[in-house]
Amino acid sequence: MYRVLVADHRRTPGSQTSLREANRGRIVDTIKKHGGLTQVELAGLTGLSPATVSNIVKELSTAGVLHTTPSTRSGRRAQNVTLAHALGLVVGVHFSTRHMRMALSDVAGTVVSETHMPLAKDHRADNELDRVMLLLADMLESVDGAMSDVLAIGIALPAPYDQSTGTIARSGLMRGWDGVEVAEVMERRLGRPVYVDNAANLAALGELRMGAARGKENAVYIDVGDGIGAGLILGGRVYTGHSGIAGELGHTIIREDGPLCRCGNRGCLEAIAGGPAILEPLRSARSGLKLQDVVIHAMSGDSACIRAIAKAGEAIGIATANLCNVLDPERVVVGGELARAGELLLGPLRREVERSIVAGFDAIPDIVQDQLGARASTLGAIAYVVDRVSIQREESLE
Ligand SMILES: [Zn+2]
Repeated sequence: MYRVLVADHRRTPGSQTSLREANRGRIVDTIKKHGGLTQVELAGLTGLSPATVSNIVKELSTAGVLHTTPSTRSGRRAQNVTLAHALGLVVGVHFSTRHMRMALSDVAGTVVSETHMPLAKDHRADNELDRVMLLLADMLESVDGAMSDVLAIGIALPAPYDQSTGTIARSGLMRGWDGVEVAEVMERRLGRPVYVDNAANLAALGELRMGAARGKENAVYIDVGDGIGAGLILGGRVYTGHSGIAGELGHTIIREDGPLCRCGNRGCLEAIAGGPAILEPLRSARSGLKLQDVVIHAMSGDSACIRAIAKAGEAIGIATANLCNVLDPERVVVGGELARAGELLLGPLRREVERSIVAGFDAIPDIVQDQLGARASTLGAIAYVVDRVSIQREESLE
């Protein structure tokens, strides 16, 4: 008999596990990390013998923990192994400055329901968390599910998040959310475990697991939209730093005497290349212009919009070169609303990186567009939660 648990993130695991239990854990963790795998791939990635893998997969499939489907790899028949869909549901929620996106998924990563909506500028935690409750109830109803089917919820916020205090790490960036213990508040209301992290970190995790950074040990994800943030993947894991501030690329100073930033400093990258900074000069001729309009106009040849995006790309390139000199990533993934402009943004950004980077030409990281688009943080929040789901054997019930 197996039971699905969500790891208690306030307690560190310390119990001894038997070898067989440890091997089961390794197989489940590897599937969580890589998605569907064949038994041969599982043996390769876990270092376990094919016979051990085969036994454990058989045992866990019978117990309803794993699910196998026939597939082919390199022309040969194989069994594709995933977590069993029926283990339960997980929820990913992404708040950005002006949007909320929410997805309901099974633990195997299949999204079963998804929704998004615009949010008021300067939205507040109390209103928006109410809204999550209502939307979640609707989504569950649409898939004939209940709150008891939900294993856990992951929430992405557009600000650095301090896991030790459970609040946004730097006040003033998201005023309506300052001091709110988001996970705590939601756990009390939903009665389910809730995990929170910064949206750029979760987008990086999403791209690492199922997008443009898949299989990369060292990569940087840069989110370019209203604000600018980065998620850092070091040694195959998302690096959040000592107090959750790691990756605040938008607040690296590009020009000491530059424009005032919302963080209180001058000349931050975000104050030069963030959404409002791109829009301001363009709006004198075109009022009501939005960032997505700038991208659309630029892609249809509007030279003022092309120039504005190129200028932002150069500034982001300077900050990216500095980051690459420190971290030496293999790949830089550029996502966010402005990334939809493709090479109009990436070209100038890449040129600036090539000009300022210390690495030799063959060691320059490839700079690519993201693959998950606006869904990156939501899917990353789901992956973050699935990572914390553990499957435990209840010996007493055997
Ligand atoms: Zn700043």
